[in-house]
Amino acid sequence: MSARPARTSPDNPATASATETASAASGSAGRRRVLLAAPRGYCAGVDRAVIAVEKALEQYGAPIYVRHEIVHNKYVVKTLEKKGAIFVEETEAVPEGEIVIFSAHGVAPVVHEEAERGKLATIDATCPLVTKVHKEAVRYAKEDYDILLIGHEGHEEVIGTSGEAPEHITLVDGPGDVENIEVRDPEKVVWLSQTTLSVDETMETVEAIQGRYPNLLSPPSDDICYATQNRQTAIKQVAADADLVLVVGSKNSSNSVRLVETALTHGAKDGHLIDGADEIDEAWLEGVTTVGLSSGASVPDVLVDGVLEWLSERGWEDVEIVQPVKEHMQFSLPKELRRDLRAEAAQKTQG
Ligand code: SF4
Repeated sequence: MSARPARTSPDNPATASATETASAASGSAGRRRVLLAAPRGYCAGVDRAVIAVEKALEQYGAPIYVRHEIVHNKYVVKTLEKKGAIFVEETEAVPEGEIVIFSAHGVAPVVHEEAERGKLATIDATCPLVTKVHKEAVRYAKEDYDILLIGHEGHEEVIGTSGEAPEHITLVDGPGDVENIEVRDPEKVVWLSQTTLSVDETMETVEAIQGRYPNLLSPPSDDICYATQNRQTAIKQVAADADLVLVVGSKNSSNSVRLVETALTHGAKDGHLIDGADEIDEAWLEGVTTVGLSSGASVPDVLVDGVLEWLSERGWEDVEIVQPVKEHMQFSLPKELRRDLRAEAAQKTQG
């Protein structure tokens, strides 16, 4: 087995500096190396959603129903299925009286109503940063704005946000959509966005909208979440020096797809999205000296470790961490789960 690469964590900058110093000392000309982006992988919203399913299985026992993939990652979904989670496409597929968890991408109010009709107990694992966008949509709809939601048609998050105020929201899927937008009052238009878009592309779309509606209102704070932005910042730095960039993530993971696109527009000569090491094509490595590596916000680090091991076995043993930003975000578990965990803990104390 080849040597494991030196690893660091966002909370351990000392390790990062040591790794970087050692790598710099060895000289970089012509040597095979991996530039490992940080931050990468699990964001606070995904971490919370996955733990919510695990805790629910422990607390209430299997099966626990989950509406849609809890996060867009095949490995995570399969692992939870093995533990007793059942993933369903529609709320109606959950038997009456059972527990259903809503995924990190959020759901429209109509889905809560369906659950109520089916007498289901719900745990809402919607990421708080998606909930923030839902609240903005509700607020601007109440103020009678036309809301231009920048996002990808058919994405679960966009469906959920649009469902908060369908009469007021128009989806804008890139600058090409802007010329077809129709609003009631050009003076009363606001834009919001999906949380996992490319920052650069979104700003292009906003500029195009501003060209048509100069008084366009912007949301009070960024809708593209901190995790998406940080992973894009890191991949830009990695891509500038990489012949090949590999991003670990599933094809239906918006933020993972954006990472590959961002790498290719910021200097990477080649880039691929892979679910794991078994999807790497050896031919991609022909003539490659520097491999950039990152992972989407729904990807556990065990999959990145697999890719590092695969590369190490082929001579890319030298790993440098590229960490332009640090992350410390954490979210508490969904309130329904916290309530029941607290109640059980209190019972145990009394007993
Ligand atoms: S990518 Fe951002 S919005 Fe989506 S779950 Fe993670 S932190 Fe939340």
